[in-house]
Amino acid sequence: MGNRVPDIVPGLSAQRASFLRDLNYTSCISINLALSRRPAAETSFVVVPGPVSEGLFAIILEHNKVARRCPDGKGLCTMFMLNEWSVAHAEDDDETILAAMIGEVEKALPGIGDDIEFIRVIRWYPVLVYSHPGLYRKLGRFHAGRDRSARIHLAGSYNSSGNVNTATVTGERSARELVDSLEGRVPTSIKPTLAAAAL
Ligand SMILES: Cc1cc2nc3c(=O)[nH]c(=O)nc-3n(C[C@H](O)[C@H](O)[C@H](O)COP(=O)(O)OP(=O)(O)OC[C@H]3O[C@@H](n4cnc5c(N)ncnc54)[C@H](O)[C@@H]3O)c2cc1C
Repeated sequence: MGNRVPDIVPGLSAQRASFLRDLNYTSCISINLALSRRPAAETSFVVVPGPVSEGLFAIILEHNKVARRCPDGKGLCTMFMLNEWSVAHAEDDDETILAAMIGEVEKALPGIGDDIEFIRVIRWYPVLVYSHPGLYRKLGRFHAGRDRSARIHLAGSYNSSGNVNTATVTGERSARELVDSLEGRVPTSIKPTLAAAAL
């Protein structure tokens, strides 16, 4: 998690460390529904609008997304809950969480509750950096202030919007910039000024 990086890398400038320490992360409760049969819907991903449900934001029909996610003829459906709902219900037991949400998934997939063979509830934390207005402007300054000649280069999805692509791209970039640094190939023009490094 980005907010824990300053404890691992104590040499960051105060401004860069402060940016990282201020990052906070979302939570998400997900429920996997193992189904005795597949719903008629052929879609793999349902995004749930706010007016339809206050807690549920996405439904994935895993058997439509990737073949062999579950036995032939059976179904696998995952429900994902919004951060605020997930935080409020993190201490609830699995049955209470399912009971609160089964009506929400039935709005899109009527009758699915009758076909549940078993469930798995997961309480995820951390999920993604909690974005708010101004975050990406600060992130741009944080990024511009990195020292390309350093021997430590940061990677991870907190370096942009949180996803696997970001994690991969920032990892590749950090590796590239580290090799450049170790081989003395950092152009003078992109070495940060003292002022920029302090960002
Ligand atoms: C439920 C859920 C659904 C998601 N869905 C998607 C999706 O559909 N598409 C998508 O693109 N992204 C999705 N994401 C986001 C994506 O998974 C993350 O953004 C991405 O995995 C972050 O990668 P990372 O390498 O930055 O961090 P991580 O994958 O968290 O890796 C950090 C690693 O560091 C290790 N670590 C921690 N502390 C230390 C330490 N002190 N010393 C050594 N090792 C340490 C951890 O064990 C971990 O292996 C989802 C996330 C969640 C939780």
